[in-house]
Amino acid sequence: MNIASFFTFFFVWIFCILFFIGFQICIALAVYYDAQSKMNRNSVLWAVLCGIIGLIPMIVYLCIRNNPSTIPIYCSQCGKMHYISESHCPFCHQENPYSRIEVANPQAQQQHRRAKVCLIIGVSLFAVGIVAMIIALIFLFYNVLGVITYY
Ligand SMILES: [Zn+2]
Repeated sequence: MNIASFFTFFFVWIFCILFFIGFQICIALAVYYDAQSKMNRNSVLWAVLCGIIGLIPMIVYLCIRNNPSTIPIYCSQCGKMHYISESHCPFCHQENPYSRIEVANPQAQQQHRRAKVCLIIGVSLFAVGIVAMIIALIFLFYNVLGVITYY
């Protein structure tokens, strides 16, 4: 392998790494916005875990993302504390309008849309990264074989 082909290979490889870093940033952002839209209080933590570690926290997040929120609120009628996800106060049965996501979090729809856009961009970057990696490997093998047959 000569210097020129080595540098070509090197740069393709750098591009692959950049695409995968971009992918991880997009996934972290998607998780962040998704968690925000569901009023998850650990949205930053989940974003960092999924962005850095990847698959395992991602699976755990997907399992817990639809769990009822445990944010405490106070009933407007009796003043007792209950969870925001409960549609009625468990003590006096007063209706809780905040149990509906659009009331509790007016930005939910927008955040959900952002999460989707980040996910689409992330998956596209991943696909491009894979293609670039395959090209780099083919290029590498081609050069190695070329050297073998030449000598
Ligand atoms: Zn109540």
